Amino acid sequence: MSGRASRALPFPFPLAPGQISENRRQILSALAASDPGFASLPIRSIRTATLLRMRDEVDRLCLGGFLLRTYGDLPVTVSSRMTSAAGKFVYSRQPGSFSGCEIRLSTDFLFRLRKGPFHLNGLTVQTPQEAFLIVFEHEVIHAAEYALFGRTGHSKRFLTLAHGLFGHTETVHALPTRSAEAAAAGIVPGAQVRFVFEDRPLTGTVARVGKTVTVMVPDPWGAYRDARGRRYRKFRVSPGLLIP
Ligand SMILES: [Zn+2]
Repeated sequence: MSGRASRALPFPFPLAPGQISENRRQILSALAASDPGFASLPIRSIRTATLLRMRDEVDRLCLGGFLLRTYGDLPVTVSSRMTSAAGKFVYSRQPGSFSGCEIRLSTDFLFRLRKGPFHLNGLTVQTPQEAFLIVFEHEVIHAAEYALFGRTGHSKRFLTLAHGLFGHTETVHALPTRSAEAAAAGIVPGAQVRFVFEDRPLTGTVARVGKTVTVMVPDPWGAYRDARGRRYRKFRVSPGLLIP
């Protein structure tokens, strides 16, 4: 996207590295000044107004208002149930339609960020606030790429945009999600785990890892039956209570 193609983009591109860090500094100080919950360490809360301000400031400083012109009031929402990704761009499958698009961010992820450094999208940052902003930037690139080309993914084109606007050099959200943390502790689907339930030690097999871990424990009176007719009882256990 260098040369001719970049001149066709409806915003200045690429930005100088100094401009990118200056944009980020301005955005973060504006958000922190207006939302004490977001400014705290660890982050306690985030207001809807802060999410929309983040969108507007990123759009104004980095994309010359392109998002507003294309999407109008693009919703930015948070979800506490999103545990496998830090952010997500939801878009309409109808080509050319910008209604129904949304950027969704995980508060489950946000509120668990403690102390840096955090490594994401090829950058290393120190604060949870900056890590959150960089997750948002990644989703903004999805929104911009979708608006420009009608589709978006982690292609070379995506990376060119992400690098030119935000200095990202990778597209991995290399931040610990719950399932990544659980995997590091040996808690993965299929693994045998032990835990204590009503003072009794139980052993079972991990079926699913989310906010809680679903464990199937052999039990002759269990409500679940596998293909071989063995019965199980299902437990949802907090990952911290499991011994691999
Ligand atoms: Zn992505």
